[in-house]
Amino acid sequence: MKHAYILENMYLVWLVPALLLMARTSCGAVTVDANLPAGNVVVEGISGDTVRLRQDLRDTSGEWFYWAFRVTGAAGRTLTFDFTNKKGGGPVGVRGPVVSTDGGKTFSYPLDGKSRQDGFTYSFGPQDDEVLFYECHPYVRANWDAFVAKCARQGEGALPTGKYFVAETLCRSRKGADVPCARFGCIGRDGARPSRGEPKYRFFVSARHHCSETMASWVLEGIGEAFLADDDLGRWLRANVELMMVPFTDYDGAQAGDQGKNRAPHDHNRDYTEFIYPETKAITEWIGRHAGGKLDIFLDVHCPWIRGKYNEWLYTPWKDPQIVPDMQAEHRYSQLLEALQCGTMRYRAADDLPFGVAWNKGVSYSQGWSSVIWACQKVKGLKVARTYEVPFANANGAVVTPETCRGLGHDTAKVFRAFLDGPLGERALPCVSGVYPHLVMYNNEGECGTGAVVPWAGDLWVVTYGPHCPVGSSDKLYRIKPDLTRETFAGSVGGTHANRMIHRETNQLLIGPYVIDAKGNVRVIPPLKMPGRLTANARHLKEPGRKAYYATMEAGLFEVDLQTLDVNTLIQDDGVNKALFEKTFKAGNAPKGWHAAPVPKLPGYHGKGMMNGFGKLFYANNGERSNEAKHNPFIPSGALGSWSAPGEDWKLVRRCQFTEVTSPDGIYGNEHPDTNPVWTLGWDAKSVILGVTTNGAEWTYYRLPKASHCYDGAHGWNTEWPRIRDVGFEDGTLLATMHGTFWRFPRGFSPANPNGIRPISTYLKVIGDFCRWGDRIVFGCDDQTKDAFLGKRGLKKDAPRCTRSQSNLWFVEPEKLKTFGPPSGEGYVWLNEDVKAGDVSDPYLHAGYESMRFSFTRADGTSVKHELVQEGDWVRVKCLEDAKGATARFRYGPAPCKTPPLDKAKPFIEVTDDNGKVWRFPNVNGDTNVVCREIATERDLLYVGGVWYEAPAENAGGFAALRPIALADAPVKSLRGERGLMYLNDKAMVIDDLWSNGTAPAAYWLHEKGGEWKPYAK
Ligand SMILES: [Zn+2]
Repeated sequence: MKHAYILENMYLVWLVPALLLMARTSCGAVTVDANLPAGNVVVEGISGDTVRLRQDLRDTSGEWFYWAFRVTGAAGRTLTFDFTNKKGGGPVGVRGPVVSTDGGKTFSYPLDGKSRQDGFTYSFGPQDDEVLFYECHPYVRANWDAFVAKCARQGEGALPTGKYFVAETLCRSRKGADVPCARFGCIGRDGARPSRGEPKYRFFVSARHHCSETMASWVLEGIGEAFLADDDLGRWLRANVELMMVPFTDYDGAQAGDQGKNRAPHDHNRDYTEFIYPETKAITEWIGRHAGGKLDIFLDVHCPWIRGKYNEWLYTPWKDPQIVPDMQAEHRYSQLLEALQCGTMRYRAADDLPFGVAWNKGVSYSQGWSSVIWACQKVKGLKVARTYEVPFANANGAVVTPETCRGLGHDTAKVFRAFLDGPLGERALPCVSGVYPHLVMYNNEGECGTGAVVPWAGDLWVVTYGPHCPVGSSDKLYRIKPDLTRETFAGSVGGTHANRMIHRETNQLLIGPYVIDAKGNVRVIPPLKMPGRLTANARHLKEPGRKAYYATMEAGLFEVDLQTLDVNTLIQDDGVNKALFEKTFKAGNAPKGWHAAPVPKLPGYHGKGMMNGFGKLFYANNGERSNEAKHNPFIPSGALGSWSAPGEDWKLVRRCQFTEVTSPDGIYGNEHPDTNPVWTLGWDAKSVILGVTTNGAEWTYYRLPKASHCYDGAHGWNTEWPRIRDVGFEDGTLLATMHGTFWRFPRGFSPANPNGIRPISTYLKVIGDFCRWGDRIVFGCDDQTKDAFLGKRGLKKDAPRCTRSQSNLWFVEPEKLKTFGPPSGEGYVWLNEDVKAGDVSDPYLHAGYESMRFSFTRADGTSVKHELVQEGDWVRVKCLEDAKGATARFRYGPAPCKTPPLDKAKPFIEVTDDNGKVWRFPNVNGDTNVVCREIATERDLLYVGGVWYEAPAENAGGFAALRPIALADAPVKSLRGERGLMYLNDKAMVIDDLWSNGTAPAAYWLHEKGGEWKPYAK
């Protein structure tokens, strides 16, 4: 029975039949009803702008939370929906309602973070005459029919019709409907009699034993898609496996919008003893008849409770070990899913629910067997019998949508294969230390850096950039499949782009000038419509559901409507590209709003990160456009700025080199702008700087060590794009990159919670962006440039140089991160400054290094009296006497160790730099050959005396700022870089393999003994 209520402007409540309300809608009245697919609501009363309603439990005993209703005639109004059944806190999901304003074509969580457990307030747009509200993403017969049509089309394309897919009828439901089922993969040699050929393996998957668990059906779609995909995995599945699928076990309930849980006398998943429902009986008969009662894997997909522990992550509730066919196999399946997943659902085996814990007790099955218990008891040959509990909206922080559920389905298909067929085919591709030579990316520019790498629509998307290309370049957008095959987007327009953001409401990835929908369709914002070097995105301050900001490296700012891709200029580029733009914009076709927009006056240039928060945008640049900046790293440079309204320019927050600006929501932009801290990373001559604000007005700054000085340089060119990103660390911390250190960064970092930042290791690759993809972190690198820029060094005069700029991706298992360079670094809180008694320094990181040394001296070397004040992980220096030209220096590294003896015949090697200075290096292997090459862009790898060093460009400190790496295994005969790899004596490796011989501490302490032989000016 469907009730409909009409809300008129005067507090009037009518109960009317559906037909009457349709008529009323046209008169401008507001109606709330259940006239939508799988509708379920009881409206209790309406007063003013408040609707009181509750879910209809129907035949469910106890509580459940499913509801779905439609509102018509409310365009332009704001209504509050209060659920009167507040048991268990109320029935609204953790990201609020799932809403459609286009008649059910698309859905989103527009109130994520803004709803209550027992209600929400929704503002209807001026055109929103009909809006659908669901507790969760709906999945009904129409969705299945669309999926079947797509699978059939796929059959007509690359695959012979009917051979790999057939839609069938399982049985007739209680209400007399045909209950669908389907088979995928190895279903026989001809379409007419598909059961003739015998597959090697048979899997069975089902969903909706509890009909309101809609996300389960989306997972099944993903599994089916994997069977039909034109890739390595799909081909293997089709050759070996028949998949039997039941998308709606409780078919009638799924269409009617029932709860389906705890039905009286029992629900479908307690029916495998009595069989009072036709579907359960039919499933057992289908398996018996078609599969001879024999299966390899039985998977039944569910969704858990609405919120809280075990309900906001993906898990498997373990069955009684006494009945599970093979517990070892179950564990192996868990490990494989954890290792192979590429989706954002991020399964963790440790999250599983052991048997006997919480609800997962034998007593739950006293009403009758569940499907999995039946399978364990009755199906022959079963290797795995398993349940998934797929969260409705939140999976360990990741948003759950139909796409992420399909991703889980795809990952599940990978597990099927790996489980039965050993290692995945993808790993068979040639790979050296995580670099796949076939994935190298080239352009025709002076540099080819990786601007952004983002997993999206099941694949990995990558853009490269050229060095200064504000109106496009030969760079491409790449789409890499899980089997590591790659497509290049034919409509690529290039540029110097490093922006990326996932816009949840329109369900699109913004990467460079490309806007990509959940199915992987790409739209392009042409360079002339939005010119400049796109460096960052942020969520819109006023219309976050529809628009987003794009910032350029020249401080330009645009807003883009993500549905129409209309662009409006808010701040022009700073003028450096003016001549080029004027030449390119033909009369009258400048970007919209361009001429009216302010020209930015923010100091610094070379924009990097941007993030919204507290009603503002925060934007960073890290360079200075002057000749002085090209050789002196100590001049003032860069800025952090803020912006709050159209017509305004950036306001200066701090004059300093800043790069990343982000929040705990990371790739999604800041979706909690009133509560999330906003972080920024930067540096000055003294140290790395971390800034944080929790109110948008005041910033607190912390100082951290620099492992490498190669990132210095007042021009800002040497840093590429340091980031703080979620890479799926098990403890929930984030990964940050800055000045050559991989840091573990606490997700809750703020002045109130400042502890927990730890160096993981130090590294040599130059990284533009990174993400988690499958079981590995993917680093998008900036490897070999055709141009040397400011990195010309006489020592490299005869070195081979690549003819085309190139970069590659670097795939690293999270555990492997700690195997690179031992944490080390140096920094200052005062550097050659006049300090007074009582002065207290910025906080400086004082945790996570094996050896930590501190000195505080005047220019003449005499010590300054001081006190170190420890505050958790941080230390402040309190100066106890006036001191002129004082320097307070922290020097951290590995534990002291033995250093190698110097060569007896020739203990030192002298090397002259480009300024004519002579430097003396220790010689530990007797080899007098000096080799210098640019392997990672804008810094040199230097081999002298049997020791590897990283050498900053002269403008970033040169030989005075060397970083020792490790001792060499053997004299260097040849060294070059190509395709993201380094060829040392013709052996292919990654530059960071130099750390792997364990001699990094020896090289560090050898260098520290520089009192004896510190490279010096003669
Ligand atoms: Zn269930």
